[in-house]
Amino acid sequence: MSEELDTGFFADWLRAAATAIDREAAHLTELDSPIGDADHGSNLQRGFTAVQTALAKEPQETPGALLLFTGRQLISTVGGASGPLYGTLLRRTGKALGDAAAVPLPELAAALRGAADAVAQLGGAAPGDATMLDALYPALDALDAGSAPGDAFPAAARAAAEGAEATVPMQARKGRASYLGERSVGHEDPGAASTALLFEALATAYGEGA
Ligand code: ADP
Ligand code: MG
Repeated sequence: MSEELDTGFFADWLRAAATAIDREAAHLTELDSPIGDADHGSNLQRGFTAVQTALAKEPQETPGALLLFTGRQLISTVGGASGPLYGTLLRRTGKALGDAAAVPLPELAAALRGAADAVAQLGGAAPGDATMLDALYPALDALDAGSAPGDAFPAAARAAAEGAEATVPMQARKGRASYLGERSVGHEDPGAASTALLFEALATAYGEGA
């Protein structure tokens, strides 16, 4: 695969994400049981399945349009806090990519970082609050440090997984888990776990297209 990431690659990413979320839906919901309302897996499964159905009917022509469209779908189909947050992440990324036909890695990394900052602002959260941001920002740091998608995407997937694990000893300060106060300590954040799946899917999609 060339170093520029085209619409086909982003469509592969979203398909791989839907597959990973289907595979892990029960686990994500289990993580959301002791510290939430046991719906994170089913929320995301509904959303990412809806994205696949909508894209089959209305294929998008550029990476930016595809991610904007996907973000809108997620906002309207995922119940719960994670819908607007993931929707904002993808919408803002898509908006930043504009109408380019293909995207080099540094531009994708910059677009994702701007979008992550918008998610942080929307949720009023910061790294260390035991949310999806604790997987997201380490993954973006790994993307910045990478020289090409072939090394940056697997590194980002590892960083996100480590970031999700690092939420276990944290006390949740945002979202439903924060209602538990200190009792949220000792549990992995479900949204951080699903963010790790999205970066795993990025590496998978690139590896399969290579
Ligand atoms: P809900 O909490 O409404 O049931 P989900 O279960 O789908 O929604 O998603 C929960 C996840 O959303 C959490 O694990 C956390 O990662 C993320 N989240 C919740 N609130 C915030 C917030 N304010 N900022 C960032 N992430 C958040
Ligand atoms: Mg929930």
